[in-house]
Amino acid sequence: MKITNMHFMWAAILCGLFYTSAGYAEDAKQTFKWPKGAKAAISLSYDDALNSQLDHAIPTLNKHGLKGTFYLQINSPAIDKRLPEWRAAAKAGHELANHTIFHQCSKSSPGRDWVDAGRDLDKLTVAQMKDQVLVTNTVLYAIDGLRERTFTAPCLDKLAGGQNYIDAVKSEFVAIKSEGGTGVVEDMSKFDPYAVGVYFPNNITAQQLIDIAKQAADKGTMANYTFHGVGGDHLSVTAEVHEEFIKYLAAHKDIYYVDTFINEMKYVKAQQKK
Ligand SMILES: [Zn+2]
Repeated sequence: MKITNMHFMWAAILCGLFYTSAGYAEDAKQTFKWPKGAKAAISLSYDDALNSQLDHAIPTLNKHGLKGTFYLQINSPAIDKRLPEWRAAAKAGHELANHTIFHQCSKSSPGRDWVDAGRDLDKLTVAQMKDQVLVTNTVLYAIDGLRERTFTAPCLDKLAGGQNYIDAVKSEFVAIKSEGGTGVVEDMSKFDPYAVGVYFPNNITAQQLIDIAKQAADKGTMANYTFHGVGGDHLSVTAEVHEEFIKYLAAHKDIYYVDTFINEMKYVKAQQKK
């Protein structure tokens, strides 16, 4: 009789422990709530102001009713020659965002032979880079009339002349993409809107893009894709792969909250204040 009671007691304690730990895991997943019960947020970003984005990415997003974020490098010929099309993209609800004027990157980093010696971020001061970033905000204001921005650091480099310039421009932005990695946020409770990690898709299949989104949905977090060329230009995905992925997201709006990065970050920051 005594033994039976002991067994019962241990069974009750163990059940309680299991219940508690399962409950905690569930709570952690549920803590962050995306709009309309979505399981994950998806940020579709496109860097460098490329012709192929105007030719393929924006028409595809419009066709399927999704919004993207376009990080414009102001000296891109595709801005000079096709300014009304960027303005139309902003009117259609896409975000025009800051990617500096000259896209200056650190020449001393590995694989940076392509960086022009006159555009070497290593040779710039923080104050010079800050000027460039602020002028870009002014140019974007002239294009779309908006005063709030997000930023992606060119090449995800953070040091101008060896000093952190991101800290010097932080206050000008709602959020900043400055980290590499898988693009999938591990834990929203530790998420920093000023150090967002992005994934650069390149030569990839639609299924691989979808699998990344599914990982974010499993974690209840967010996936940040930063495309470059779409059906052309550099670091590209084909127009077909891009469209298949966009189609998938549009067909699963119950799972994925897809919006401009600025809207998503305003939502996240409001949730973090609660
Ligand atoms: Zn870039």
